[in-house]
Amino acid sequence: MTDKVDLKNLTLDELAGFLAGLGKERFRAGQIFRWIYQRGVVDFAAMTDLAKALREELAARSFISDWLPEAVEESRDGTRKYLFRLADGQTVETVRIPMEAGRATLCISTQVGCAMQCSFCLTGSFGLTRNLTAAEIVNQVCAAARDGAVNNIVLMGMGEPLHNLDNVVRALQILYAAEGFDYGPRKVTLSTSGLVPEMAELGRRIRVNLAVSLNATTDAVRDQLMPVNRRYPLAQLLAACRDFPLQPRQRITFEYILIRGVNDSLADAKRLVKLLHGIKAKVNLIPYNEHEGSALRAPTPEAIDVFQGYLLSRDLVAIRRASKGQDISAACGQLKGKLERLQAKLPPPGNPGE
Ligand code: SAH
Ligand code: SF4
Repeated sequence: MTDKVDLKNLTLDELAGFLAGLGKERFRAGQIFRWIYQRGVVDFAAMTDLAKALREELAARSFISDWLPEAVEESRDGTRKYLFRLADGQTVETVRIPMEAGRATLCISTQVGCAMQCSFCLTGSFGLTRNLTAAEIVNQVCAAARDGAVNNIVLMGMGEPLHNLDNVVRALQILYAAEGFDYGPRKVTLSTSGLVPEMAELGRRIRVNLAVSLNATTDAVRDQLMPVNRRYPLAQLLAACRDFPLQPRQRITFEYILIRGVNDSLADAKRLVKLLHGIKAKVNLIPYNEHEGSALRAPTPEAIDVFQGYLLSRDLVAIRRASKGQDISAACGQLKGKLERLQAKLPPPGNPGE
């Protein structure tokens, strides 16, 4: 392989440092960022405001990775799932979710697989293959942005972002650069299963909206659903949430997957209100997305209504989230399921004889 530097792995500061090593001025880094992220140019020869000698030197020492999806699937509701093949043959998935008024949210992955082994999550059942590089995180946005505007970004695809903190922070710095995509930190949300020390480190290192996958109101249930809870139980997790730096009017999002008979009772709703007391919180209620390989079941519509109604009655902002893109396996926790099934030649759901 090449020992050339992939410029998409570098923050603006790092690129300026790289250029300083070549004896070049700092503002050249901004020029290159504009070419790469604002104009989508990855060929040095086209960067006409750089001297030819510099372009040639850059081409000799560096390259700019760029992705085209290997496959794109579009759901009936307009959700689009991109499959990207990485240089080492691994794959990741990225999902574009259409929002109101022609806007779109992009759900990006941070790892190939995930080590956290949540029992409800298909991604988790495959284990961790490897971390994505900053360039591989950013390239999901570059490729999707070519396909239409991306207004918001959520780090809620495959992987646990805080288990790949260095590359995730670097990717956010690249996405935030004014000379590049110029995303404001309020446009980006990072979701974690609750790695407590890394939550504090994240808060120290960079601004981003925080979402926490809570999913249970007792340690006994959360231990079963999310093994990470045995390391960082609820009291520690909620203390980390209380300590997380927030801007005025900013809240932490708590994601709560409702699973029939497991965590969807009125008693759970009551405990949830108590747990979140004093935290600037909003709750996303996500009906469990059923998939093969798991005996867990979606809640009844009545249970969802009762649960949400109780939270609202206690002035807790509680939004019911429809899982979009279910017909193309693009919904929460389904990423990579279909592909792995093909590779493993496992029978598809509902066709055990095949
Ligand atoms: N690892 C991080 C980042 C997102 S994980 C985290 O756990 O927060 C993928 C998201 O899909 C999480 O919000 C998770 O709660 C959700 N999810 C996983 N399996 C699901 C399922 N079967 N039904 C509904 N949501 C699911
Ligand atoms: Fe990993 Fe998040 Fe899935 Fe848990 S829910 S296994 S942390 S991707």
